[in-house]
Amino acid sequence: MKVDGQCQCGAIRFEAEVDPAKVSICHCTDCQKFSGSPWRASAPAPADTFRITAGKPATYIKTADSGTKRLQAFCGTCGSHIYAAAPQNTPTYNLRLGVVNQRADLPPQKQIWTSSALPWAMDIHDLPAS
Ligand SMILES: [Zn+2]
Ligand SMILES: [Zn+2]
Repeated sequence: MKVDGQCQCGAIRFEAEVDPAKVSICHCTDCQKFSGSPWRASAPAPADTFRITAGKPATYIKTADSGTKRLQAFCGTCGSHIYAAAPQNTPTYNLRLGVVNQRADLPPQKQIWTSSALPWAMDIHDLPAS
């Protein structure tokens, strides 16, 4: 699916192709911290389809306990997260679903790192809704 998006302030804009079957939710503690939310949804885009059309994201490289490095890209002005990727020769840009304009049409197909999921975040159906 062809998608485009931008950060909250509009300084960073991008376009890409994503496979709707690969949209996922991650419950890892890094995603909790980076997103400021109980979990994060992402849609992977092959590198040859991903293009920044405006602005230049700020980046931060996180080294996991395993030694794996992940580059986190975000807007240096408004802080919106744009993607995560391997620091070099990346095959895939893992787009953060919240900045993808077509996100309502990209329901997650799986969840990962549920061992670190916040127990209360797994079912919010019973919360009063407005
Ligand atoms: Zn921004
Ligand atoms: Zn994660």
